[in-house]
Formats: sequence, C-alpha cells, structure tokens
Amino acid sequence: PVRVRFAPSPTGPLHIGGVRTALFNYLFAKKNNGVFYLRIEDTDQNRFVPGAEEYIMEALEWLGIAPDETIGKNEKFGPYRQSERKQLYQQYADLLINSGNAYYAFDTAEALDFHRKQHEEQGKTFIYNHHNREKLDTSLVISKEDTAKRIANGEEYVIRFKTPINETLHLNDIIRGDIKFETNLLDDKVLFKSDGMPTYHLANIVDDHLMETSHVIRGEEWLPSMPLHVLLYRAFGWDAPEFAHLPLILKPVGNGKLSKRDGDKLGFPVFPLEWKTDEGISSGYREKGFFPEAVINFLALLGWNDGTEQELFSLEELVEKFDLNRVHKAGAKFDPEKNKWFNHQYLVKQNDAILAKAFAPIVAEKGIVVENDKLIQIVSSIKERAHFVSEFWDLSDFFFVAPTSYDEKASKNWKVETPAIMHELIAVLSTIGGFSSLNIEIIVKDWMTKNEIGMGKVMQPFRLSLVGALKGPHLFDIVELIGKEETIKRIEKAIA
Ligand code: GLU
Repeated sequence: PVRVRFAPSPTGPLHIGGVRTALFNYLFAKKNNGVFYLRIEDTDQNRFVPGAEEYIMEALEWLGIAPDETIGKNEKFGPYRQSERKQLYQQYADLLINSGNAYYAFDTAEALDFHRKQHEEQGKTFIYNHHNREKLDTSLVISKEDTAKRIANGEEYVIRFKTPINETLHLNDIIRGDIKFETNLLDDKVLFKSDGMPTYHLANIVDDHLMETSHVIRGEEWLPSMPLHVLLYRAFGWDAPEFAHLPLILKPVGNGKLSKRDGDKLGFPVFPLEWKTDEGISSGYREKGFFPEAVINFLALLGWNDGTEQELFSLEELVEKFDLNRVHKAGAKFDPEKNKWFNHQYLVKQNDAILAKAFAPIVAEKGIVVENDKLIQIVSSIKERAHFVSEFWDLSDFFFVAPTSYDEKASKNWKVETPAIMHELIAVLSTIGGFSSLNIEIIVKDWMTKNEIGMGKVMQPFRLSLVGALKGPHLFDIVELIGKEETIKRIEKAIA
C-alpha cells in the first residue's frame, strides 16, 4: 500500500517549495488510494521556531490538502512529532553500533578544523571517512574500554555512520532514473549526539521505516542524502522505500532557487499564509486574495504537466491525472504574472453572489450602502478585468460615487457640439420607462440613427460623464445600475 509523508522541520513558515512537495505527496497518495501523513521533524532544537508547526497545519488545511494522519489525527504510527520519539532513536543508534555499522567519535570542533585546514593546505578536501579514520579520535581507533570510560566520564561524543569502502552504489530515482554514487566520497555522517538527540538522517530513516513509508517524495536538495539513506536501510536490514526527488523552483529571472528575498523584491508572496515576526511581515497567498484552488493549480504545474496543453485543473482532476513519471528533472521557473492569471481564471469562475459577499466589506468600509442584488450585478460586470477581489473597488468606484475629475486625455473627445448633444441625450433618457440596459441601448441608438449622430460623438462623452475616464464595462450596464436620476445628474454636471 502507498504511504507517503510530508516531513517539514518547523523552522519558519512553509515556503512555496515545501507546499509543492506536500501537494505532490498528497496527489500521489490519493491517486493510489494511499495515505498521506504529516510528520514534524523537530529534532534540531536550535532551529525550532514557535508557531511554525501550527502554520504548516493551517496552510495545508487552507489549501485543502490536509494529511490523513498527523498529530491529533488518526495517530496510527504516532507520535508524529519527532521530539516525542526521542527514546526510540537511541535504541536504533545502539543497534548500528552493535552491528558495526556505526561508531563513537570524540573529535572536538578544533580538532576537526585542524584536519580540514591541513587538507586544504595540501589542496585536498577533508572527507570524514576511512581516508582519515586512523588519525581521528573514534572508537574505531581507541579500545572498547577507553570508549566506555570516556562516555561514562561525560565526554561529548557523536555517533557516526561507518560508510562502506570502495563501493559504487547504483540507485534509482523515479524522476531521475539511475544515479551512481561512490561511497568513498561520502562523509561518515553524524547520526546521534550526546545530548540524546538524533540527527535528521537517523530520525528520518527510522521513522520512514516505522511509519511504513512506501515512497519518499521530496525536494532535490535532499538528493545528496539519498546514498546515506539507502545505506542506512541496508545497515538496519530494512527494505528502502522508493525515492523521487522533485525539481527545484527557480527565481522568475536569473538563476538559482526561489528565495524569500525574491518574494520581497517582487512584492509577491512565496508563502501560503502571512507570517509575522518582530522583524516584519511576509505576505501570504491567502491574505493577498488568492483562491486556494488557484494556488494548488499553479503549484501542480511547477515541474509537472499531463502531457497536453491543459493548464486549468481542479484538485480532483489533478488526483486523477497526476503521475510521478511525468515530473520533470529540470528546475521550474516561478512566474508571478502567470500565478495572477491563474487566480483570475478562478475568480471569473466564482459565483457572483460569493464574490459580492467578499466585496461587501470593502464597499461598506467606504461608507457606502448598497443593495446586495445591485452589488452582485456590479461584480458580475467587472470581474473579467480583475485578478483579485481587492481590485474590485478601483474597477467599480464610479458605480458608487460620481467622478470628481475627468481624464484629461479622454477630454479631447469633448467637442464644441458635445454639450448640445448631451442635452438631447438627457431628454431621450428622461422618456425611457423600462430602465434596463438593453432597453436604454435600443432607444439611445435609435435616436442616434434617426438623427444621424455618430457613435463616438455620443458614447465617449457619455462614458466620460459617468465614469470620468474611458474605461469600465458595457456603458448601458453602467447606466442601468446607477439609475436614471444619477445618470442625468452626472451628465448635467459634466456639461455645466
Ligand atoms: N525534515 C526534512 C525537511 O525539512 C525532510 C526531508 C525529507 O523529506 O526527507 O525538508
């Protein structure tokens, strides 16, 4: 059975790359009728940030990709917080010591620095493995008794993995295919520290095994850890899960990984939800007015497509179509403009009543009272031009307040004969009974034809009088919505 996980470290708000990893795990699980679980990897107490765990959970909820199992939810293999599994890791570190796959190391930071420098002087890189073991302060060199004594004396130590010598590992990654690694180039990584805490590597492998993880789907930055992880599974005598390393998300311009700073520079969120600290606020998609469905949609296409030109996918469709084999190897460029386009697509699909409800508080804040039906009509007439509900006001302010100034460039449409024509227009408008957009349009156009008045001569000054600029939706819709009295009032003001 498919069991996949999202395993973030609570070191801050979830970056958009992390969200994409969670999404691909979610899609893969659902596609295969499997389980998607969330595990919090908080063994590095120095990097722990309060609130980050709650943030991660809230973000996944908001996006509609909440885990099936996690802290407080179907805790089949709990606890799902690594700091609460502390006791467990010690046993597994001991197992590796006893089987000869790991050893104690007492090197001080100074000693390690010294070795590193010495290597540098000779133009070599220091690799902490069999190349140097005899020179290092480890239980591979000192006697069993001395090792035990030094531990009993409270000397600081770490437990390191004993990397096998002279092996070429042929590993498979679902996205990248076969990858070769030379074990001689790997460091003997630290697995456990004398403070009783495991490192990421040990805790991650132990938990992926105990929680019966079938596939590890994670960011490309973890690819270099894959050989160690596979060797750890082997050392424990466990079957390794399958691996899939997702491509990086790249900056919109230039090279390199998308960072928080790119977001700040672009004035564009790289986090799902807003994140506040003493140093400031990082904006979030939710607060910017993105629909969660739009965020899911554009994230799904960062490194994947279904092989067609289709760009708009609902979450259900993504579940149906998602295929790890179609995930690209190459990095995916993050495109803020395209993300806005996605939001626009979801915005126009929304029910007008729902959009009106979202817009209502903004209107109310301006001190304007408007009937709900009218607001729905207004929203319907302008939404094609918006990416966000927050843009509605600027697109529709003329519905609520008469223009106080007229666009200068547009005023060239205002000719000597315009006031006279506008006077006639007022007379025509006053006679109209059923003041509906279509009816007004027919009657006004009829009057223009009969009197051989050119379209531009009426329509542009008419629009300018009502809107203050040559913008906005269909003119007769505006006329209907603001009503006869207000329409006439605005024309009179413009020709005064
Ligand atoms: N805790 C790691 C992270 O922060 C998990 C990496 C993995 O998925 O193995 O991304």
